Amino acid sequence: MKQQKMEIEKLIESARTRSSASAAHVELIAVTKELNLEQTQKVVDEGLIHLGENRPDGLLSKVNALSEKVVWHYIGSLQTRKVKTVIDHIDYLHSLDRLSLAEEIQKRASRPVRCFIQVNVSGEQSKQGMAAEEVELFLETIKDMSFIHPIGFMTMAPIDATESQIRTYFSNLRKLRDTLQHSHPNLQELSMGMSGDYEIAVEEGATFVRIGTALVASLKE
Ligand SMILES: *Cc1c(COP(=O)(O)O)cnc(C)c1O
Repeated sequence: MKQQKMEIEKLIESARTRSSASAAHVELIAVTKELNLEQTQKVVDEGLIHLGENRPDGLLSKVNALSEKVVWHYIGSLQTRKVKTVIDHIDYLHSLDRLSLAEEIQKRASRPVRCFIQVNVSGEQSKQGMAAEEVELFLETIKDMSFIHPIGFMTMAPIDATESQIRTYFSNLRKLRDTLQHSHPNLQELSMGMSGDYEIAVEEGATFVRIGTALVASLKE
């Protein structure tokens, strides 16, 4: 995977430099959800310290076994009843999408969690995340929850979206952040872009990209 890592880092950097909407810095999250412990160790050995998991079991089986240097990102939808088992093991939650989840985190966490609010920018029924119009009120509602530190927004483009639609979704998320930043200066980050669309995401201002297949699939054999 050394090759894939170098290639992806190069493409991220060139996407970043060719766009005026891009961020000053882009963090690569290696999505290790389909890898076992040994394969995940290889990802860490390549120098990738941001790892993404989307299931409580996958996360918990790895957190204690891997280096303390790993920064853990929980990228999947999180069931309320699973909060207590995972919340103190993660550094970032990418899927804060409802008030009941925020309330449960506030109740169960013993340390603050950096959270991305997941937004459904495409308006597609089946997609997770709250509508863009709901975000401002949501931020107001959670503002006194001491264990929730909202740092920005996350989104996923629908699988069947065209390139130009994907670009519109990502740039709309950036505009949402830019608007809400006036009243909420801590909203700096944008988690967007996966294997198929990370270059567009970086051009549109992503600060974190979440890449699985294109980066780590070669370890799966
Ligand atoms: C699996 C997953 C990814 C990575 O997807 P790839 O297409 O394999 O890069 C990114 N984000 C989320 C939320 C995921 O579940």
